[in-house]
Amino acid sequence: MAPRLRVLLPLLLVAMTACVRNPATGKRMLSLVSQDEEIALGKQAAQDVRQSIGLLDDKKVQDYVASVGLPMARNSERPELPWTVQAVDDPVVNAFALPGGPVFVTRGLLTHLNSEAELASVLGHEIGHITARHSVEQLSQAQLAQFGLVLGSALSEDIAKYGVLAAAGLQLLFLKYGRDDERQSDELGFRYMLGAGYDVREAADVFTTLGRVSESAGAGGLPSWLSTHPDPGERVETARARAAKANVDVSRLKQGREEYLAMLQGMAYGEDPRQGFFRDNVFLHPGLRFQLTFPKGWKTQNQTQAVLAASPREDAILGLAPAGDIPPETALRKFLSQQGIQPVSAAPTGYPPGTVYFQARTEQGAIGGVTTFLTHGGTTLQLLAYTEASRLQAYDDTFRATFTSFGELTDASALAVQPARIELVKLDAPMTVRQFQERYPSTIPVEELALINGVQPGDTLPAGQTVKRVTGGVKPSP
Ligand SMILES: [Zn+2]
Repeated sequence: MAPRLRVLLPLLLVAMTACVRNPATGKRMLSLVSQDEEIALGKQAAQDVRQSIGLLDDKKVQDYVASVGLPMARNSERPELPWTVQAVDDPVVNAFALPGGPVFVTRGLLTHLNSEAELASVLGHEIGHITARHSVEQLSQAQLAQFGLVLGSALSEDIAKYGVLAAAGLQLLFLKYGRDDERQSDELGFRYMLGAGYDVREAADVFTTLGRVSESAGAGGLPSWLSTHPDPGERVETARARAAKANVDVSRLKQGREEYLAMLQGMAYGEDPRQGFFRDNVFLHPGLRFQLTFPKGWKTQNQTQAVLAASPREDAILGLAPAGDIPPETALRKFLSQQGIQPVSAAPTGYPPGTVYFQARTEQGAIGGVTTFLTHGGTTLQLLAYTEASRLQAYDDTFRATFTSFGELTDASALAVQPARIELVKLDAPMTVRQFQERYPSTIPVEELALINGVQPGDTLPAGQTVKRVTGGVKPSP
């Protein structure tokens, strides 16, 4: 529902295999990964990314991002890979590459950049991770096997949606690259960028900006670019030196500032509350006009495909997910007919009508759960809760309280909520960022405004310059 994904905690169904890679033999084992395997792995993980984070629903932006990234990828050492370059609807500042071709950049990163050349340097760097096979080389055979096993296991798709798929594919996003890998990717990205005619000096600006982005902005979410890419400071210097050494007439290179900024006009900035947001433990979804109260103290997360809550002990899951364009009875029958799932009995009164208890066999043992399908605003939704079979009785009251809390969202302020958005202003006179903030107030602090414009609050912006401001939005609930 919304792109605020926390990696699924050690949930019941998640087959977390410890990394058993032997540093001495790892390399040799890893060279066994064929290009076909690499591509298949990346494709599956990219599918997980699209399902759990979600692509940005803006063709203009997708076309633009692809038009910058794909030519560099196709002129790389591995033009034959099935390259994709896409923007995901996530406010975290990040870009990442998956094995075999998929490159993603977040909406959060896009709103922090200021030119096409800056975007090219980010994408070129990520393309470098793929051409140099960095993530594949980090994977042990055991991890590779896990992808195959988990994804191909007997677990039903519906249950898997609540944990396994996300955790398996998205683990790839949590791989940290080593310094040497980063250096190599910077070097490769520089070459791709230059080959495509971009002003390579802009790479240093990107490192500066990303170095300024507070890590706290993405705390608890997917890893930010910073957490997977160490040493921005050193890389600013290296990028500068590299650009200075390149024997090119930089005045002929493309920066593409205006076209880049034009692409950002109207883009949501920060969290998009229309896709659902939490007020304390209540989940409000203005787009679909419903609300659901989760137990106090549970860890909640709002994914693209489901809203989830994990018990404090992480031994029980509650979730809500869209169930497709079919009537609730059909959806329930489909759910119960899946391999490994057996209906146990209709739930007692107190639960919504049509609620059933079920059992499922998993690699981690028997789980007991309760589920119901309901229609809301023409959409069929599934409420699902599960725990170890032996714990179901203990959690029954808690599950029932959440199930019966589902209802129409009527709060006018919640229904009217809108994300903050990027708006462009062309300056008619020179002014400092602080003066700009007084004349064209933004709903973000002046420091943050300066940061997304790639300048300092006291810097003077020249007349004629296009400047980003941020308008609208709501204060997130604490
Ligand atoms: Zn990197």
